[in-house]
Amino acid sequence: MFNHIGRKLKGIAAAWAILGVTGSAAAGVLLYLGKTLDLLWCIVIGAGGIILSLLGAMIVYGIGDTHAKLERLGDKLIPKPSYASYLNENQALRGQCEICGKTTDLVNAKIVDKMGTRFRKVCRECYATNKCEPAD
Ligand SMILES: [Zn+2]
Repeated sequence: MFNHIGRKLKGIAAAWAILGVTGSAAAGVLLYLGKTLDLLWCIVIGAGGIILSLLGAMIVYGIGDTHAKLERLGDKLIPKPSYASYLNENQALRGQCEICGKTTDLVNAKIVDKMGTRFRKVCRECYATNKCEPAD
């Protein structure tokens, strides 16, 4: 909801301006046609509403435009980690377990038993059942 708020504020400002101007003009005309107020007051309400709507919309648009430009500037100035380096650091070791042969996420394991010390890529179940130690 609050992502890219600058772009949204600019849209809200445009809607605000359109609704405010048409609403104020309509209110002035309707008040005059309904003969509830003098012509002068109808003009003051209509024109005043239009001016206030435009001023408010300009302020909101200005804030939105400033935010949108700052966001673009931030995109250029703040370096983002590249996708490739993200994958390198977070990709799970995947393949066939060297004990049971199941294709799944693997763990580098150090196996020490009476046959000596071996290093294997094994699944989590084999890691647990074969009393493995972390190899890293
Ligand atoms: Zn296994």
